[in-house]
Amino acid sequence: AVSKKDSYLVTLLPGDGIGPEITEATKKVLAVICEKSGFEIELKEALIGGAAIDAKNDPFPQESLDQCLASDSVLLACIGGYKWDKNPRELRPETGLLKMRKEMGLFANLRPAKVLSQLIDASTLKREVVEGVDVMVVRELTGDVYFGTPKGIDVIDGQRVGYNNMIYSESEIDRIARVAGDVASKRKGQLCSVDKANVLDVSQLWRDVVTDVITKDFPEVELSHMYVDNAAMQLIRWPKQFDTIVCGNIFGDILSDEASMLVGSLGMLPSASIGESGPGVFEPCHGSAPDIAGEDKANPLAMILSAAMMLKYDLDRPEEAAIIERAVEAVLDEKIRTPDIKQEGDGCKLVGCTEMGQAVAD
Ligand code: ATP
Ligand code: MG
Repeated sequence: AVSKKDSYLVTLLPGDGIGPEITEATKKVLAVICEKSGFEIELKEALIGGAAIDAKNDPFPQESLDQCLASDSVLLACIGGYKWDKNPRELRPETGLLKMRKEMGLFANLRPAKVLSQLIDASTLKREVVEGVDVMVVRELTGDVYFGTPKGIDVIDGQRVGYNNMIYSESEIDRIARVAGDVASKRKGQLCSVDKANVLDVSQLWRDVVTDVITKDFPEVELSHMYVDNAAMQLIRWPKQFDTIVCGNIFGDILSDEASMLVGSLGMLPSASIGESGPGVFEPCHGSAPDIAGEDKANPLAMILSAAMMLKYDLDRPEEAAIIERAVEAVLDEKIRTPDIKQEGDGCKLVGCTEMGQAVAD
């Protein structure tokens, strides 16, 4: 993150599939916010994913990494597609994304799930359950059972045995707890730490370190703890009880996908990945939607809201972020809908990606 200034350099990664379309829509919105608020964002494009494999035979070339690291922030659309699905692992788009997260030290993933009143009927849950839901999941992104060693599949006593290790060091827990404390303090000030401390030793350490950090350094934040199985149940039973949730990589993977379904459409969900210092990466939660790519049907709002998160968390421009969020709500109030958020007989106007971007910009 940087302090507020008059001119920023942002690396823009349009990626694959619907990426270029939603990027165009987002550029329009950023251009308007810059013009009206009197600051500049230079958007410099770079290659990642399938586009980078085709051009450079590398899903995240060194020059893209160098450019990202030299920027104030990074805005990413989405990557992947059928074309590269059968490539060897080192030539898959997803490998580029993992490399970017690792090389940029992005250990915290922020996924807000905010139910907008205009889209309540898009949720599969009852109105009274989802109305007013505003949950932020802070997921640790570079540790846990995904990266712990030893790992593998061995033959033991004549049969195959597979194993991975859930490992967290004190310093890894400490730094994610600080991000979560900071995020919670800027929201309603309620932080729920999710673990499985009744069974797992690593979770007991998690609980101890989170408690230490929050009670010592974030006294204004109200901390509670919940076991992950209960949290999964409570998120569906009564999601309004949550403000900010912090958890390890695998629990966060599952809970953030679960929380996203409260909102209704993937096309509405932004995310932020941030590190200790330096630029973060802001991207929609959805993939490249190859089934609708190039048809001007994609919902650009997840990427537009990701740009708002970038303004808030990386560029020190919270007012401008709020303006974008209000513009999105205003467009929904005007009953403008892309196909993914259109309900049969809702009396709303069906538009494409281009028109939706223009409506938010207007
Ligand atoms: P990934 O593995 O990269 O997360 P995925 O396989 O989970 O990708 P997505 O690409 O996210 O899948 O698409 C899942 C479904 O949601 C598809 O039918 C797609 O068309 C739809 N979808 C995803 N993003 C959008 C969007 N922005 N607007 C409209 N529909 C979308
Ligand atoms: Mg997916």
